[in-house]
Amino acid sequence: MKELGFDSRAVHSGESKPLKDGAIVLPIYQSSTYEYVGEDDYDLIRYARLSNTPNHLALAGKISELEGTQDALVTASGMAAITTALLTVIPHGGHLLAQQSLYGGTLQFLKDDFEDLGRTVSFFTDDQIPDLERIAPETTAAVYCETITNPLLRVADLRGLARVASKCGWVSLIDNTFASPLNCNPVSFGFDLVLHSATKYLNGHSDIIAGAVAGKKDVIRRIRHKLNHLGGSLDTHACFLLQRGLKTLGLRVRQHNQSAMDLAESLSSHPRVSRVIYPGLKSHPDHARASEILNGFGGMLSIEVDGSPEQIDRCLSRLKLAVIAPSLGGVETLVTRPVTTSHRGIDPKFLSEIGLSEKLVRISVGLESSQDLVNDFRNTLQEL
Ligand code: PLP
Repeated sequence: MKELGFDSRAVHSGESKPLKDGAIVLPIYQSSTYEYVGEDDYDLIRYARLSNTPNHLALAGKISELEGTQDALVTASGMAAITTALLTVIPHGGHLLAQQSLYGGTLQFLKDDFEDLGRTVSFFTDDQIPDLERIAPETTAAVYCETITNPLLRVADLRGLARVASKCGWVSLIDNTFASPLNCNPVSFGFDLVLHSATKYLNGHSDIIAGAVAGKKDVIRRIRHKLNHLGGSLDTHACFLLQRGLKTLGLRVRQHNQSAMDLAESLSSHPRVSRVIYPGLKSHPDHARASEILNGFGGMLSIEVDGSPEQIDRCLSRLKLAVIAPSLGGVETLVTRPVTTSHRGIDPKFLSEIGLSEKLVRISVGLESSQDLVNDFRNTLQEL
C-alpha cells in the first residue's frame, strides 16, 4: 500500500482481505481465547493478552502503513507503549539520554521509577545534541525525545539526534503523539521506534485510552514479548474504536492544523496574550526547522496570558466552546494550565529551567468551526 496516498492507507491498510463474513467493518472479537491449532511459540498462541486477535492485527497493519514502518503494535495506553518500549531496548544497567522537556507522565516515570527498575537516565537540552556523543555515559543504550514537545512545542534537531544515535549504536525512540503520522514520519529521518499516545490524534474522539509503537519487525517482536509479560495489552473494544478513528486521521489532522494556525495568528495580536507558542508562526524559535521536518504544524498551541493564575483559571472557565480538561487530540477544543495537570508534581525549579510558567495555557484546538473558536477565545480573554 506504500504507493497509495495517506487517506487511502488510513481507510484500507490493515483491513482483512477477504472481508470477514463480508462485513465491511471488522467486528469486535469478543473472545479472550482461541482454539489451539498447533502454534509452537508462546507469543503465537492466540489469546487476547498476547495482542494477536484479528482486531490487534488490523491495527498493527494500519499503524505501520501510516508510520512507514515494517511493523507496529498497540498497547493499553500511551504510557504502556513508552514504558514497555524503554524497558525492552534498555538492558538492566543501561542508560537513557532523554530530552529535557517532555510530557509530564514520561518525565515522572523517568525521574521516579527508572532507577528502581535498574536503568539510569540523564536529560539533555536541545542545544546539547551536537555534544551528546562526547557527554554520553558508556552505558548509554538509547535516546528519547518528542517530535513536538509538550507543552512548549519545541522542535529539536531531530535529524541530528537520529544521526548521532545511529553512529553510536543507540536505539532512538520518539514520541510522535503531537505531530501524528500525517504531519511527521520520524523513521524517514532515521528514528528506530515511533511511539504514540493513541488516546490523542490517532483515535481522535476522546473516548479511549490506548498507545502504539511502530518500528522494525525484530524490535517490535521483542517489545510485544515484553508487553505479553507486563500485561499492558489493548482491549478489543478499544481496538475497534481506534481502528475506526484512524480511518479519518488525515481529514481530522488537516483541519486541526488549519484551525490551530488561525487561532495562533489571531491571538498573536490580542492585548491580553503576552506570548503565542505555535511552530507554524514565524516568531517560533524553531519555525525554520519545523517547516523542514513537518508536513503540518499540528493542532496544539500554547499561550501565555497576562494575568494571575486565579484570573486565568476564572477566564478559561468562561469559554463557551472550549472545556478545561487534560488530554488533547480530540474533536472538542480542550484547554489546560499544564502546571495544574500534565506537569503537576514536578519540581518548580525544573519547570522554570525548561521555561514552563504557571501562566502558560495549552490549547488542543478541536474541530469546531475555526471562526467560532477565534471569537470564543478573543471575547473571553478580552474580559480577563
Ligand atoms: N505522550 C504524550 C505526548 C502525551 O501527551 C501523553 C498523555 O497526555 C502520553 C504520552 C501518555 O499517554 P496516555 O495518557 O495514553 O497513557
